[in-house]
Amino acid sequence: MLPCKPLMAGLAFSLSGLAALSAQAADEVVVYSSRIDELIKPVFDAYTKETGVKVKFITDKEAPLMQRIKAEGENATADLLLTVDAGNLWQAEQMGILQPIKSATVDANIPAQYRAASHQWTGLSLRARTIAYSTTRVEPTELSTYEALADPQWEGRLCLRTAKKVYNQSLTATMIETHGAEQTEKVLKGWVNNLSTDVFSDDNAVLEAINAGQCDVGIVNTYYYGRLHKQKPDLAVKLFWPNQLDRGVHVNLSGIGLTRYAPHPQAAIKLVEWMTGAEAQKIFAGINQEFPANPAVKPSDEVASWGPFKADSLPVEVAGKRQAEAIRLMDRAGWN
Ligand code: FE
Repeated sequence: MLPCKPLMAGLAFSLSGLAALSAQAADEVVVYSSRIDELIKPVFDAYTKETGVKVKFITDKEAPLMQRIKAEGENATADLLLTVDAGNLWQAEQMGILQPIKSATVDANIPAQYRAASHQWTGLSLRARTIAYSTTRVEPTELSTYEALADPQWEGRLCLRTAKKVYNQSLTATMIETHGAEQTEKVLKGWVNNLSTDVFSDDNAVLEAINAGQCDVGIVNTYYYGRLHKQKPDLAVKLFWPNQLDRGVHVNLSGIGLTRYAPHPQAAIKLVEWMTGAEAQKIFAGINQEFPANPAVKPSDEVASWGPFKADSLPVEVAGKRQAEAIRLMDRAGWN
């Protein structure tokens, strides 16, 4: 009986404190991000400055983050999963760790082809996976399509990144969607046959190899070029937009999904809405030399200098739907 009175008093006292605490809890959003601190912190800092809402984030590779969200289940810590490539976001969707972002603002800001049909994730920034060529050994008039890089003309002149990277799996997936498996396999075999050297572990190495004369053409994401070009303005490499007379360039994204058991779903959706708006789009895309996913927002000067192009109009989630098929086909074609 004795502790009863002080306990009641303590409870009465803390009720207002509790209300303050829950208001405070709603004023934060937790993001699990496979993008590194320097690419996301300036965006979240700007949001906090504008709204007072705190954004906590942890960064890791996408696979462990997705596993962690799955393992946490209903005791979720994360509200949002931020990662790159529609192939990864589609995987998260398949794992059942996301829920729809119900927002007319997001739907209005981001074109449908760069969002999940289920509304479980949306693109935030875009990158083209395109052809890079040596300005000293290749005339742009020699280039036309991704498929043409399989021609004998490029034997011993092509550099590629490993087939293990989701970027190449997504590109392959969109080719399967367009040409079917048989035709795509022929193209991949041609590419593998044309390799000048073993596959590289990242796109930057492909660009450096072209610059150094190890190969003449390669396939890279545009922001790797943007970063390297800013660092080395005399880079003897340029970007080429392939397939301009047919389906267009493969464009992929970085994006964000709302976790299924998000502790602060309303606050999380508000953050996503803001991230698709003009101010955040400019910062987020600008930091990494990407294209804003919101078409009303202009890209950085570096990105704009590459010139306009026609993008493939396929919904980018095709990259996820055909990912398993793409991996099998790349393996069969001998792409390591
Ligand atoms: Fe990358």
